[in-house]
Amino acid sequence: MKGTSKRYVEVLLPLALAQSYTYAVPEHLKEKVQFGVRVEVALNRKLYAGLAVSFHDDIGLEIKPKDIISVIDDRPIILEYQYTFWQWIARYYCCTLGEVMNVALPSGLKLNSETKVVASQLLEDQLAYLEDDEGMVADAIFNNNELGIEDIRTILNKKTVYPVIKSLLDKELIFIREELKQKYKAKTADFVCLSEIHRQQDKDLNEALELTKRSEKQTNALLAYASLSPAYEWISKQSIYKKSGADASVINALVKKGIFLKEARQVSRIEDYLGKAQSLKPLSTNQEEALKAIRKSFQDHRTTLLFGVTGSGKTRLYMELMQETIDRGEQVLFLIPEIALTTQLVQRLQAIFGKDIGVYHSRLNQSKRVELYQSAMEGQSIFVGARSSIFLPFKNLGLIIVDEEHDASYKQSEPSPRYQGRDTALYLSKLFNAKVILGSATPSLESYQNALDDKYGLVTLHERYGEATLPAIEIVDLRKKYKQGLMRAMFSDELLSAVKTALNNKEQVLLFQNRRGYSPTIQCTLCNWNAECPNCDVSLTTHKYFQQINCHYCGYHTKIPTQCPQCGNTHLVELGFGTEKIAAELSNLLPGATIKRMDYDTAKTKAQYEDIIYEFEQGETDVLVGTQMITKGLDFDNVALVGILLADKILFFPDFRANERAFQLFTQVAGRAGRRAKKGKVLIQTFNPEHDVIQETLGMKYGKYYKRELEERKMFLYPPSVRLCKVTIKHKDFKRTEAVANEIAKKLRAQLGNRIIGPAVPGISRIRGKYIQQIMVKMEKDWSKIQQIKALLHQTKRYIKALKNMSTVQIIIDVDP
Ligand code: ADP
Ligand code: ZN
Ligand code: ZN
Repeated sequence: MKGTSKRYVEVLLPLALAQSYTYAVPEHLKEKVQFGVRVEVALNRKLYAGLAVSFHDDIGLEIKPKDIISVIDDRPIILEYQYTFWQWIARYYCCTLGEVMNVALPSGLKLNSETKVVASQLLEDQLAYLEDDEGMVADAIFNNNELGIEDIRTILNKKTVYPVIKSLLDKELIFIREELKQKYKAKTADFVCLSEIHRQQDKDLNEALELTKRSEKQTNALLAYASLSPAYEWISKQSIYKKSGADASVINALVKKGIFLKEARQVSRIEDYLGKAQSLKPLSTNQEEALKAIRKSFQDHRTTLLFGVTGSGKTRLYMELMQETIDRGEQVLFLIPEIALTTQLVQRLQAIFGKDIGVYHSRLNQSKRVELYQSAMEGQSIFVGARSSIFLPFKNLGLIIVDEEHDASYKQSEPSPRYQGRDTALYLSKLFNAKVILGSATPSLESYQNALDDKYGLVTLHERYGEATLPAIEIVDLRKKYKQGLMRAMFSDELLSAVKTALNNKEQVLLFQNRRGYSPTIQCTLCNWNAECPNCDVSLTTHKYFQQINCHYCGYHTKIPTQCPQCGNTHLVELGFGTEKIAAELSNLLPGATIKRMDYDTAKTKAQYEDIIYEFEQGETDVLVGTQMITKGLDFDNVALVGILLADKILFFPDFRANERAFQLFTQVAGRAGRRAKKGKVLIQTFNPEHDVIQETLGMKYGKYYKRELEERKMFLYPPSVRLCKVTIKHKDFKRTEAVANEIAKKLRAQLGNRIIGPAVPGISRIRGKYIQQIMVKMEKDWSKIQQIKALLHQTKRYIKALKNMSTVQIIIDVDP
């Protein structure tokens, strides 16, 4: 900000506030404060670390704002473009800048307050008159200037210290100081270097060796140093330990003798990738052509949709484009839906790009996240990460890859900002004029429509790489099978014999069911009672292994009942099935087979997930039963058969995207079969074999599927032909929820007429004790109109919130749900 004297600064706080706050800049901080640094400010008696985002000289306010207290950073922690980016997100997704800031900054860069107490001027005079606990604490505070609550606990050796503190506070002998404390601490390690004297006097270390000749360990450490760093530079103590077997005492002795200099230096927590970088295998003719087509498409499109069937080599093409980009000195952002489910992919990328890759995700510890964040600013070349990595501070982004662009987990639904990672990445690419590749075997209808409209370039790969062909898909009609008595548990004769054949051929099987646990319902055979969650409108799922019935929405759980709480009947039945039951039943039917399960019960941690994958890769597992977790991007050599146990729940899920999700899911699951030379087989069990999506999946009729689905969306006015905005109303009290929903719908309808659908009660009408109602707003794709509608939504929300008794009603605006 040139030309201003920085009298006032706008500070963005990490709170759900609609605007920034104005503070005055005291004279002594004018030099230090600049755009993008954190400043310490007080708001409502609390201290916060806010971001300085703009400056001005005249605020036109009567009251002079408060001063900023301190400037925390020497250098900006966000770049100018990020602020523009955040503003766009807040506007587009109807949320506050503070909420965007909260998700955008790694938590290690956000500050937390810790209570400290300090002495007041009155304390000294009063010390002599204070007794017991108060006296002890007062003395300690006086002597130390300030103390934390924990310190006071130790001094008094008591749990509750607040009464003492309060009493001292009431007497105005002490007051509370909130201290902003940095969570991030740079990691340091000891480095050593040959001291100046020895470096100058003899190049051969003779004199130094003379000094160590009575200690073999010291001699070895010195020689190890010389071989690790022939130019006698600073190297880590650790590397000498490793090379010579020396320990700290040896190094300290060398330091004492004046041979080594020692110094603590900041080191990176980002582990260097130790594997050797492999070179890329040559492209196939098809891939070569696709690559050319992408380059050509990039000439007149910023974004290109790479529509390539499973196993066609999309990842291989990404690597080519990534290499070109980093060779130009630009950065690459590689987005993936869920980092936990992509170990295989990350390993493949690391094998090629080694330590050029930073893997950024929410399960990293805070310090690592901060380090990666900073490395982006310094120009680290490649980042792989889930949606939140769009918030990294890029220096010169050249390419964004959105892998599996259709995946629903790109959308954040809770908490705000409810942003779509893919769509937001497209806006980010605009700011850098970077290229974007959207890759998928089953592109979203939104992206496909954009390609049809020539907004995106379109490049297709129809065939799998090499010998591999797409699997043969077959349907099993469950109506017939049940009628003919050909089912054993949830297995049709066809599926069971296909499993046996695969195992006989020493091949592997994947079985898919989109439900974890043993059975989703437990019911009384006499009175029809069934176990329901006390907080949610759902039935409780039996988990045999944990001996519990669980709610998958709120976590409520209790023991599996042995008798009906309503009538006392001890005959309870378990209806339906989840992955646990499938695995159990299959073990009964095939006692010799090794059957494993992959779902959020068995693969809660990354390590558990990796173990399951590893065992399967090694051929230790014959059959892997899993939820959505097995559908994503896995590349196994030896999968001959994929079974979908019950397609129907997916087909009839109450959502306008049910068909799209079903097609994607079936095609992706099927895509795990036969990825090498041998053709794979896919069996889909269903009660609705004539359903459009089943038929389209069966014939791999992509064209037909897209045409039919796009026509239906157009006819019933759903995306991509319109934009949607979902308003959700939640409250503990049903009546209030309903009243608010009706009032909002009325207000909106008055202005927007039949663009408003609802209010309606969703499939699950209560979660965590709160009743839910929803209103859908359909918006034509007209920028200014959409802005008007969003403004109206904000205004309506404010109006309701201001009504008596309504402030506790939650009103959630979700754009592009
Ligand atoms: P997609 O990402 O489209 O599913 P992949 O890139 O995973 O496809 O490729 C499928 C399989 O074929 C992988 O095991 C991959 O290593 C292999 N593959 C693809 N292209 C080549 C190539 N040009 N040379 C050697 N192997 C390849
Ligand atoms: Zn009963
Ligand atoms: Zn519940």
